[in-house]
Amino acid sequence: MLMRTAVQGVRALLLPGACLICARAHEPTSTGDIVCGVCRSRVVALAEPQCVRCGHPRLSVQLPMPAMAMQASTVPADHATPTRYRDNLPTCRWCPRLHPALRAVRSASRMDRGTGAALVHALKYEGWTAAAVAMARAMSRLDWPEDVREEQPLLVPMPLSTVRRRERGYNQAEVLARALRAALGRRWALVVSADVLQRTRHTQSQVRLTPSERAGNVSKAFAVPTAQRARLRGAHVLLVDDVITTAATVNAATEALLDGGARIVSCVTFGRAPDPGDRALPDPDPSRT
Ligand SMILES: [Zn+2]
Ligand SMILES: [Zn+2]
Repeated sequence: MLMRTAVQGVRALLLPGACLICARAHEPTSTGDIVCGVCRSRVVALAEPQCVRCGHPRLSVQLPMPAMAMQASTVPADHATPTRYRDNLPTCRWCPRLHPALRAVRSASRMDRGTGAALVHALKYEGWTAAAVAMARAMSRLDWPEDVREEQPLLVPMPLSTVRRRERGYNQAEVLARALRAALGRRWALVVSADVLQRTRHTQSQVRLTPSERAGNVSKAFAVPTAQRARLRGAHVLLVDDVITTAATVNAATEALLDGGARIVSCVTFGRAPDPGDRALPDPDPSRT
């Protein structure tokens, strides 16, 4: 922690009043945003139309899902039963990778265009925790199914292993969750709880692994501490992470949350990695890049 603070101090001396991404002059805003308006506007959203469940760009208009929509809006929040999500059926080609208990997944930025990847790198690998302010601002504008908004889920950052947290000095997902909480203001009365989910073993970086290797790498890597089970019982959890790629990590965390008593899980990430299937999508609108 001390080392990170020292590094940040040096950078602040080198780049006084400069945008974190483009280094042009930019005075930090009252919310601590050190990314200039131009770089913020170059966070490129995922293409429309999107799947209402997983938030992934779709090829065409979505087929109706009457069973899921009805269940989601008519079942009381305290109705703790696995049948609650039995109709969370895959509705697009990206959905099948999701755990059946994942109600809705949303991401704010493409990783292959614009400034999204640079923001993630600054937050995750360069110690720039203030990058989370601009990232959370984009995440706070995401659109959610009505039942997710109404249930006011518990914000749970994706945990890091003790080893990784010590190396980095902070958990970037927790920084992001707190920034998202602040960016949402009074619109959502969400509570950040960083204690309900723990990473029980150190896993290797997912970056160079195949999808099946990723799933094996994070399987059983999470757990809910016994003391947190009462808090989680019947809850709708909104997992927060920096990037979603194959959903292996989110699925493993979802399984642990269900074991710990959660009823249903949604997930919000800043970035979403490009998928090979995206090649079939039409070219993005150049005005949005
Ligand atoms: Zn800039
Ligand atoms: Zn989908």
